[in-house]
Amino acid sequence: MPTPLGGVDLHAHTNHSDGLDTPAQLVVKAARHGVRHLAVTDHDTLAALPEARVAGAACGVEVKTGIELSVQHGDFGDIHLLGYFFDSEDAALDTCLARLKEGRTQRGLEILRCVNCKLSDLGRAPLDSERVQQYASGVLTRPHLAQALVDQGYCKGHQEAFRDFLIPCNAPKPALSLEEGIRLIANAGGICSLAHPGVLSNDPNVLDPLLAAAKSLGLAGLEVYHRAHHPDAIPFFEAAALRHHLVPTGGSDYHGRPTGPTLGEIAPGYPVPGTVLHDLQRFAAGRESD
Ligand SMILES: [Zn+2]
Ligand SMILES: [Zn+2]
Repeated sequence: MPTPLGGVDLHAHTNHSDGLDTPAQLVVKAARHGVRHLAVTDHDTLAALPEARVAGAACGVEVKTGIELSVQHGDFGDIHLLGYFFDSEDAALDTCLARLKEGRTQRGLEILRCVNCKLSDLGRAPLDSERVQQYASGVLTRPHLAQALVDQGYCKGHQEAFRDFLIPCNAPKPALSLEEGIRLIANAGGICSLAHPGVLSNDPNVLDPLLAAAKSLGLAGLEVYHRAHHPDAIPFFEAAALRHHLVPTGGSDYHGRPTGPTLGEIAPGYPVPGTVLHDLQRFAAGRESD
């Protein structure tokens, strides 16, 4: 189980991807919850970092460079890869993220089109694309559309919005291969941790070959501490990290939704261990001196 040492969160989202908070709101909330080291890990974008850093300097939160990339490998169509400690100005990374952004923009518009078709079938007014866009600071994603459906009075909550509209209307995300994702971050001077492995599988026969392949491609960490992992299941993921010589990492995966974990925790009363950042930094420093 996580140690009581908290103050660290290596996984959180803003409204530059599918979170609901602005970068400044996120950082202020982190400070309020005692998080002193926060990695902002938006999906496929670094756009939140400048505002988050300014807000962090003002309220005593050290904002770490981070990102969450969607990648594919074999039968796994949607693996999430967390990148840390890379150069946020790296030109190749910038070019790649611009390409992914265009793909994600088209995906958001495609889902909106489908939602509006469904609403029209139900005899309801469509969502206005300009108004919906105001929920997002960058690319329009499903949680933004869920909030619009709730605010419009069409759904009681996000769960209902996903069940009735956003799951049936889902469209594939643009994604890199696992190798491309790890290499992209490594070439920019950073390291990667595989996010919430429990979302992919709880079966070691399924997980082990993926972790072995990812490790051979340069994977550094495994996100052991995550809200998708019940506290009782943490030892299983700690053992998987140990077996594959991966650094255990952790974060709340905070999205600013009314339900969900608090920043710095994976479950009420279970803080992300304060050691994860230090261990990951030590791994990165060791790699440089190889
Ligand atoms: Zn994720
Ligand atoms: Zn996430």
